[in-house]
Amino acid sequence: MRFRVAFLGLFCLIATDVCTAEKSAREAFDQLNALRVDPATLYQIEAANRIELHRGDVRLSLEQGKLAFLQLFEGHLTGAVFVGRGHILAAPRDPVEKQQMAHFLGAPVLDQDFGSACLRFTDGSAADLLRQLGEAGVSPEPDSAFAARWDSVLATLNPNQSLRVLFDSFSQIPKPYFYAAIDGAATGAFDVLLDPLRREPLLLGQVKRNAGRAFYDVWASYRPANIDAPPVTFRALRYSIDTSIFVGNSLEAKTEVRFRAEAGGERLLSLQLSHMLNVDEIRGEDGQALTFFQNEGMTLRERSTRGNDFLYVVLPSAPARGTEFSVRFRYRGNVIEDAGNGVLFVGARESWYPHFGDGADFADYDLTMHWPRRLRLVATGSKLDEREDGDFRVGHWRTEKPASVAGFNLGDYAFASLAAGGHSLEIYANRSLEQALNNRLSSPAFDSPRITPTFGPEGQAGTSMMQTIPTVAPSPADALKQLGRDIDSSIRFYENLTGPFPFQKLGVSQIPGTFGQGWPGLLYISTYSFLPAAAQQRAGLSESGQEHFTDLVPFHEVAHQWWGNVVGWSMYRDQWIDEAIANYFALLFADSQKNANHSLRVWLTRYRQRLVEKLPAAEQPASEIGALDLGTRLTSSKSPEGFEQVIYAKGSWVIHMLREMLRQPGTKDPDARFVTLLHTLASKYAYRALSSADLQHEIEAVMTPAMDLEGGRSMEWFFEDWVRGTGIPHYRAEFSVHHAEKGFVVRGKLFQHGVPRSFISPVPLYASGGGGHPTPLGVVIAAGPETTFHFTTQTAPNKILIDPHMTLLCISE
Ligand SMILES: [Zn+2]
Repeated sequence: MRFRVAFLGLFCLIATDVCTAEKSAREAFDQLNALRVDPATLYQIEAANRIELHRGDVRLSLEQGKLAFLQLFEGHLTGAVFVGRGHILAAPRDPVEKQQMAHFLGAPVLDQDFGSACLRFTDGSAADLLRQLGEAGVSPEPDSAFAARWDSVLATLNPNQSLRVLFDSFSQIPKPYFYAAIDGAATGAFDVLLDPLRREPLLLGQVKRNAGRAFYDVWASYRPANIDAPPVTFRALRYSIDTSIFVGNSLEAKTEVRFRAEAGGERLLSLQLSHMLNVDEIRGEDGQALTFFQNEGMTLRERSTRGNDFLYVVLPSAPARGTEFSVRFRYRGNVIEDAGNGVLFVGARESWYPHFGDGADFADYDLTMHWPRRLRLVATGSKLDEREDGDFRVGHWRTEKPASVAGFNLGDYAFASLAAGGHSLEIYANRSLEQALNNRLSSPAFDSPRITPTFGPEGQAGTSMMQTIPTVAPSPADALKQLGRDIDSSIRFYENLTGPFPFQKLGVSQIPGTFGQGWPGLLYISTYSFLPAAAQQRAGLSESGQEHFTDLVPFHEVAHQWWGNVVGWSMYRDQWIDEAIANYFALLFADSQKNANHSLRVWLTRYRQRLVEKLPAAEQPASEIGALDLGTRLTSSKSPEGFEQVIYAKGSWVIHMLREMLRQPGTKDPDARFVTLLHTLASKYAYRALSSADLQHEIEAVMTPAMDLEGGRSMEWFFEDWVRGTGIPHYRAEFSVHHAEKGFVVRGKLFQHGVPRSFISPVPLYASGGGGHPTPLGVVIAAGPETTFHFTTQTAPNKILIDPHMTLLCISE
């Protein structure tokens, strides 16, 4: 039997370690893991009476072969296996999903034969199958050899499903689900999931490797029309985290989380917690030990390589809606990464403590940290006190405003602070680096590795990106102060665009390597950003790499203080907004600092180039990977850097185009409408999620008549083209000039390609008549492959220029 098991990666509840407090939950879980094929339930399916299952937009046909059920669990059938000739047909209607299906499968539908399948379910699948078998008059024929062949497959596959099956038995409002692991004839193993617990219940996808990395390629993920969005079950209100960090970077912690039951009737809490942390115990409101599941059955070694970052806690009973309760966690492990030169930081950004919810779930945080005395610790929130305690320091921080995440880092830091306006700025740079750099400077010659900057401001926070800088070194103290002044001016610049800086303090700490990260009131900035140009050059940075680290990275992260840490995002589909605004802000700030260099124009040109060029190893240019709102789905086996390539480049352009359309040239404040929009977004969506639909709605509130291409005050066309659309338009103009009574008549055609036929866009055309600046002819609303135009002018143009002022992301041919 040819059967490979696909794992659902991030997308499903993956089961795992149990404490024995509640026997029944643990026993049920073990029972589910132990389910095997029941040899007495084998049915022979003939071509004349094939069996069909319809789930969402998916049709599974079992045309001929053998079907058998798993053993009963608490009297219910929760699975079946099939070997023979099957067929699957799935045709999503949404254009974004169709584009992705075509991207991965070569056609916008999944239409494939398969040789075997394993089904798990709590929905009506068992009844559906049995009814059809009954109607066909098929009786079971025991076959123990067939059953035994599935043992190893089920041993691997069951743990991924057991907790999900259990969820329905824990919940007063079960959400029946369906899952199929299918061995496709053309694609190999893939997953079909219809799970109403997910915000996008239907998922088609598979694990695929590329260059030694495993990716989960999502072919389609969406909510079919007849399935409601899942309710919010719980909310975390307050975290009290008490963490001790020891020499060797291990930590031990006690965390208490205060929850509120939002829906009522649910018993299973699912949290993020790094697989590098091991839970010792979890206690409930009255101190009773609670059952939990965390990478069940894995050894420590297995956990470190393939464990997942989820922790599931079973409450003793389902709290009523509105009830508040506390859960206390004790855990230990090592999630602190040594970045070199005495800088330690938390790699597991959202999972170094039991963390509930997503980037739009804001809560209060109270942090107590104990750490080795010789180091300085920088944390999110306001520091209430710090004292020495033997070989340790103890500090206490509390958030002033709700935060979606808390974090810290520590190192042997030099420190500078400046007070400015309503906030203070604290800059921390590594002291030991200075010595390393001095040594390096005094060495006669050295070779530095060439460092390729990543596409976006943030690299991966994994160790692979942590290239410590061996050389480079000037005076960090000077660089520190200069960076402090620059960051302070960026804050003032952004305050004009967005409103007051949201925190009392901004800590900026240096991290060796090429990545940056922004926490509420705390930034990690790459060492490269602390270096003067000469040192960056010696470290192997290209010119654009230098500009990236000097002009963009720190200020992109500063902008995230508003866009990400105050205005949140909840769905992966909305992440592009905060990234795009943060990046565009960094471009605007760079432009305001160095007008002579026209940073905005330089970067927009670079980004356009990166979107349309096809890199040697890539199958297609970045602009063709997929829509902006696919977020992290852009990264896949087909485009390992897809997120970075698309989000920063296209996202910055999208914000730029909006700004250009909202501009009122010749007025006192040409950007007034754009700034009003930003202020509205920052205040109205503070401490909650800003979605693409919200953004569209707010733009529609300030849009100009010229933006209303379709009538009805709608920006649907823009979001269709640029947020949910793929491709970049290419334009070419053909024209002829005729004398008229007054001046000249210019008639012509504007040709558009590279985008779907439905793509419409206002395209500014300019006349160039020999010397002097190009003069505007007018705006053509390009619709489809060919749009005719005519203008009357005073002078005859020699040439028509398409959008010379870069207000539109397009290629002019
Ligand atoms: Zn960012």
